[in-house]
Amino acid sequence: MKVLICDATAITALDMISDAGIEVVNRPDITPEELLEVIHEYDAMVVRSRTKVTASLIDKATRLKAIVRGGVGLDNIDVEYAGSKGIQVLNTPSASTAAVAELTIGYIFALARHIPQMTASMEGGEWAKKSFSGTEIAGKTLGLVGIGRIGQATGQKANALGMTVVAYDPYVTEAEGIELVSLEDLLACADFISLHVPYTKETHNILDADAFEKMKAGVYIINCGRGGTIDEDALFDALKSAKVAGAALDVYTEEPSMGHKLYTLDRVIGSPHIGAGTVEAKARVGTEVAKNVINVLTK
Ligand code: NAD
Repeated sequence: MKVLICDATAITALDMISDAGIEVVNRPDITPEELLEVIHEYDAMVVRSRTKVTASLIDKATRLKAIVRGGVGLDNIDVEYAGSKGIQVLNTPSASTAAVAELTIGYIFALARHIPQMTASMEGGEWAKKSFSGTEIAGKTLGLVGIGRIGQATGQKANALGMTVVAYDPYVTEAEGIELVSLEDLLACADFISLHVPYTKETHNILDADAFEKMKAGVYIINCGRGGTIDEDALFDALKSAKVAGAALDVYTEEPSMGHKLYTLDRVIGSPHIGAGTVEAKARVGTEVAKNVINVLTK
């Protein structure tokens, strides 16, 4: 049995797989062209978000029994086509929940207190004590769009910080400490809006110009979910008009996203899709990846 590691995966996971008697070939920088040439030799492949598993790749994968995704989103894999060929697609749904929820809370504080902008000002040799007036988050309303694993974890932490938490999720009927509301009501009442939905036809640009129009003036936006769920041009306009006071982004419509026009605005802060990028989450993802590979290939 042979597994191909196509994206960076914890060494401990590779050791677990080897210890189960499965040959591991670690090629975290493999190109799409190289992948097409070698995939027929493997019984399983491990990917994160970098590697795209297309129908044409699956057609070449004549031995493949499993595609294991370290992480949550499966939008880089043609899941339906894999299923039609009898290939299992497995992910590690809970491993990154805490990391993404903590980053979201970090962004709420960073936006409320302008922490990145003040750091840049200090780095520029300034002492701009009067330029940065912050806002407290206790007593403010956090609106969560999507209240699955990460939405709920974020909501619980926000509750503990004294925020009122409301959420819109048509597929959830209850969530402890969180009031479920319509999207319209959420847009109208939230001081901070944070997205935790997958990218689907329904969530495509769920925050569009019309949605920004319905929000409170001075709202803050956070997206540590999936790119494509915010109309980035509409967000740009809403920031320019000061309807939106600030935005924190970890995910983008196009990734990688270098030189994004939103970053020409100093009220935009963010990161390059590193929501799950903690030591602990990477270790949990690795362990779950290894268990998935071993289960499919040895049981
Ligand atoms: P989850 O499946 O547990 O939760 C997603 C929730 O979205 C579900 O409750 C679902 O009902 C809801 N939803 C679906 N369509 C909706 C709609 N139209 N309107 C409102 N709600 C809707 O997933 P999760 O583990 O909580 O992950 C949430 C998102 O975070 C996913 O998109 C995932 O890919 C992303 N994520 C990002 C990072 C990162 O590095 N930034 C890391 C992990 C996960």
